[in-house]
Amino acid sequence: MRTGLSKDLIARVLGAAPKYTLDELEEKFPARNLADGAMVTRFAPSPTGYMHIGGLYGALIDCKLAQQSGGVFMLRIEDTDTKREVMDAVKIIEASMDRFGLNYNNDEKYGPYYQSKRKDIYHSVVAHLLENGLAYPCFLTADDMEKIRDNQKAAGFATGIYGEFARDRDLTDAEIIAYLDKGLIPSIRLYSMGNPEQRIFCKDAVRGSIGFPENNEDIVLIKSNDGLPTYHFAHLCDDHFMRTTHVIRGEEWLPSLPLHVQLFRMMGWTAPLYIHTSTIDKIDDESGKQRKLSKRKDPEANVAFFLEAGWPVESVIEYLGNIAASGYEEAKMKGQVKSFWDYEMRAKKIPMSGALFDMKKLEWWAKEFIGALSVPELVARVVTWANEYGTETNRMQVADIDYLTGVLGIERDNPKRVRKDFVTWSQTLENVAFFWDELFVPSTEYEFNKDALRAFLETYNPADDKDTWWAKIVAIAERTGVKNGDVAMNLRVALSGRTNTPDLYSIMSVMGGERVKQRVQNAIEA
Ligand code: GLU
Repeated sequence: MRTGLSKDLIARVLGAAPKYTLDELEEKFPARNLADGAMVTRFAPSPTGYMHIGGLYGALIDCKLAQQSGGVFMLRIEDTDTKREVMDAVKIIEASMDRFGLNYNNDEKYGPYYQSKRKDIYHSVVAHLLENGLAYPCFLTADDMEKIRDNQKAAGFATGIYGEFARDRDLTDAEIIAYLDKGLIPSIRLYSMGNPEQRIFCKDAVRGSIGFPENNEDIVLIKSNDGLPTYHFAHLCDDHFMRTTHVIRGEEWLPSLPLHVQLFRMMGWTAPLYIHTSTIDKIDDESGKQRKLSKRKDPEANVAFFLEAGWPVESVIEYLGNIAASGYEEAKMKGQVKSFWDYEMRAKKIPMSGALFDMKKLEWWAKEFIGALSVPELVARVVTWANEYGTETNRMQVADIDYLTGVLGIERDNPKRVRKDFVTWSQTLENVAFFWDELFVPSTEYEFNKDALRAFLETYNPADDKDTWWAKIVAIAERTGVKNGDVAMNLRVALSGRTNTPDLYSIMSVMGGERVKQRVQNAIEA
């Protein structure tokens, strides 16, 4: 501890007297009135203009844990880096949360939820620290710090502002005033009393208790350029006064844990429970090695990719949910739960490392999800996607809803045998493209049995029921001396250009008599 600053000097150092006392803040943001075990979580992104899949993963865990425990899930915008453009970036975050169904509840009582609007709170807390000799104004310039760094490196010391290198930690009032009189604006630094020779034990709810050397760095709490807090100080103030019970954040924050625990202890506040989540990795195509999903190299690192490509958002959630709670898949397969939202996940089982994003596995979840949709649901989802993200061709395909409903309804009337050939909305439309004359690509490879096709046209009646239709095919097979299946295959290829399709009779019914006759005729003439 050093000598505390007087209230007057604090007001000069901070540019204004603090608005609140600590007691007033405690009263303004009271403990939440929630049942035992209710978790209060928050997703706290920096507005970068981009929502990373790892961010979505963390936000999903936050949302799920709060929801299943009857707690509260908040969205807090960490916009203390004033060099960044904020408004649009926040819209991207909010829209993504909305799209993926992560509903947060930003109760005004605990706001504001933009850190840039919480200056009064940070300044009030830092004033308390200044008054008690636990923080101090620091007038080191960028140049000063560079010199200190160079000297430390040359001498083989750890770099940073600590101990004897912290030039201003014991300035007298007169020295502080002299700097202020020169018009200099200080940053506010922690007066660290940690000793790196000693260990501090910090708890992570998944990893258990971890010993770290104590922090001795006089880290910046309030920046001099804009008076806004650093991440560390904002985390302390916000998660205390927002009454966060669980901080779920990326493992890149694990090294900062001893500092955060130190800050909470210094204030006499209970620290939240921390869970540091694994990064979301992938297997690199070239090296075959596991690495973090990269914003630069991997389109799937950006959640917008999944929306644009037409992945059902639910399948992305199911998939990420199963990474966070690996028992989910089994519970779902056994029919114990309908979706991830019904599954009771356990915070302690969140994986510590090695979370792999595997597109093949996502495909499986997407097929499962689409397979369980009713025809009207499927049609609605495809239409919405096509109108928002689709090509002109896609929009043409969804223009006639009745026809589209017929096409997508094929073989979807048997809940026990669900078709699993649709993966994304985009691929669904591509998969059925042959139904539209504009998109139909006749086969150039298949050798048609033109006698069989001619015989088909002679007896074809679009009004035939399935049995009559099949009886005619059998008769044609007998007459032309080929197998029943060969006749069907000739028709299949003539109508779809493919050798593998869903039920042929259904295809013909949906296509209608005119289109069927035309395509068969074209195959005969080809
Ligand atoms: N703004 C921090 C980040 O984006 C938040 C970390 C946290 O959740 O505390 O990494």
